[in-house]
Amino acid sequence: MLTKLEQQKLFPLASKDNTNKDTVIRVKDVQFGKEPIVIAGPCAVECEEQIDTIASFLHKNSVPVLRGGAYKPRTSPYSFQGLHEKGLQMLSAAGKKYNLVTVSEAVDEHSLKQVAHYCDIIQIGARNMFNYELLKKVGKFSKPVLLKRGMSATISEFLTAAEYIIKSGNKDVILCERGIRTFENYTRNTLDLSAVAAIRELSHLPVIVDPSHGSGRRSLVTPLAKASLAVGGQGLMIEIHNEPSKALSDGFQSLDFSTFKNLLLELKT
Ligand code: PEP
Ligand code: MN
Repeated sequence: MLTKLEQQKLFPLASKDNTNKDTVIRVKDVQFGKEPIVIAGPCAVECEEQIDTIASFLHKNSVPVLRGGAYKPRTSPYSFQGLHEKGLQMLSAAGKKYNLVTVSEAVDEHSLKQVAHYCDIIQIGARNMFNYELLKKVGKFSKPVLLKRGMSATISEFLTAAEYIIKSGNKDVILCERGIRTFENYTRNTLDLSAVAAIRELSHLPVIVDPSHGSGRRSLVTPLAKASLAVGGQGLMIEIHNEPSKALSDGFQSLDFSTFKNLLLELKT
């Protein structure tokens, strides 16, 4: 367990101890850290029609943030790798058309420049949370960063990764708990909701939760989403698809439109 002094040394800028105010990050009309924010979208942008259909649906349901991967860090090199710049262009066009804030993942310096150009928020994924050179680079950009927890990262390593970004000049870091590797294999990852409550205690940065990658099972997304907000999560990132069975990636954990609508209703009750 970390003592207060150790914590101060590891992540003084991300720590709550040096400020008594929680950070609010404003992106257009969306304020992370103020009210619960729902981010949704497909795991990957697949084509213009798909992202337009999903963006239109989100707009109709007052979900303000559209997420779609264009650079996909896949476990297998034979899996769909994303549409790269073309995907970012499709995401950006859909975001503009439906007035949605956009998020996409960057995986290296090249994609970082593109994501910063086309999107409102730069995602750094779980696999790159320990990529310190990339963290330093994203710290030089003036767009907010959505930093996902590495699948083997302790809470302190997660906050220290955020520290890298802030120390490099970018203070707008949104943290995302997305599950960690444990011995459990019924779920894809073990969603660590205690980390969410702990981060609210330790840091002033907004923290959101991704129950889609956190469980890997569509049926668990809604109960985990509710639990995430109950423990202090300040937002959610949910994978949705117009035809989950045909999705090119992560279809088994993606919600169809009607299930997602029910989730939104359940969050309100
Ligand atoms: C994703 O958000 O699509 C993703 C790849 O997640 P993670 O980096 O958490 O595995
Ligand atoms: Mn995914």
